[in-house]
Amino acid sequence: MSDVRIDDLPVRDELRGKSPYGAPQLDVPVRLNTNENPYPLPEPLVERIAERVREAARGLNRYPDRDAVELRTRLAEYLTRTSGHRVGAENVWAANGSNEVIQQLLQTFGGPGRTAIGFEPSYSMHALIARGTGTGWISGPRADDFTIDLPAAEKAIAENQPDVVFVTTPNNPTGNAVPRETVLALYEAAQAAKPSMVVVDEAYIEFSHGDSLLGLLEGRPHLVISRTMSKAFGAAGLRLGYLAAHPAVVDAVQLVRLPYHLSAVTQATALAALEHTDTLLGYVEQLKAERDRLVAELRAAGYEVIESDANFVQFGRFDDAHRAWRQILDRGVLVRDNGVPGWLRVTAGTPEENDAFLDAVRDIKKEQS
Ligand code: PMP
Repeated sequence: MSDVRIDDLPVRDELRGKSPYGAPQLDVPVRLNTNENPYPLPEPLVERIAERVREAARGLNRYPDRDAVELRTRLAEYLTRTSGHRVGAENVWAANGSNEVIQQLLQTFGGPGRTAIGFEPSYSMHALIARGTGTGWISGPRADDFTIDLPAAEKAIAENQPDVVFVTTPNNPTGNAVPRETVLALYEAAQAAKPSMVVVDEAYIEFSHGDSLLGLLEGRPHLVISRTMSKAFGAAGLRLGYLAAHPAVVDAVQLVRLPYHLSAVTQATALAALEHTDTLLGYVEQLKAERDRLVAELRAAGYEVIESDANFVQFGRFDDAHRAWRQILDRGVLVRDNGVPGWLRVTAGTPEENDAFLDAVRDIKKEQS
């Protein structure tokens, strides 16, 4: 059996020689590499999840609510309350993580013979999901300081006429937010070129100094805002992502979603978490303060840091980022080498975890000088 490898199978040509996405899951004392929320869910919420899941278990002989109406209603209320813009259940769609939301969007608006563009470095799954859905990928430009160079981005859109434009704000791995005017200009450029769908990935928006772009949805049916409960809600293990868009977009993604894709257990758990929104957003405030401390302390230690609106920070510069990654790991702290030359990324953890990280990077700085 073991002598047969992937490439011996009749897999699609574009998958040959490729490796699956995945950050190393190493067993080290301090793991700050996958932008998770370091705080476990509070005990009263754990109890509420157990209660709701017990109730759902009694009905597991039946398929779940295929349209997840209660969950979409509660998500819409959360968005309305936190953004000040009215969002209804008809504007919201949910799936197993925002990765699945993005997959459904590319199955709907991308696919064979179509293309998507992202401005890199950015979230690498956009390109990988494009590949998985047979969508051509265009790597759009970014300026040296990792902001989106608008004239260059507009030119790339005009030249390539992509069907889907991804804008990640705050951006992963660099941490910086994209100004609202830039997103608006990219939307206009995308409409002039094709028109195409613009997907704004706001996975980290709750950590931002600025506001969500939900207010831009009004009158822009080709705009989609993608969100997740993995980060701010501290529920990466839940797998719950969602989008807000014109109701026609919500209807369109239902053409490709698998029936009953969101299990009754997932829906029950997410509903319980949404009941505890205020407590969970309290942790977000602590993490924002820790993120700002990381930025300040890294700078004080002589590192360059990209301004961060997320729960992680990109820092450098290193002649050999991978070597620095290894030196930090040798001190018991796992950060992320995203392959951006000269830079590493650290997720804001608990104050104790961040202290351990800061000790490690101060230490290697001493070694270098
Ligand atoms: N978008 C961005 C920018 C991300 O960084 C991530 C997670 N790393 C996701 C989407 C996917 O998150 P999830 O599938 O857990 O919702």
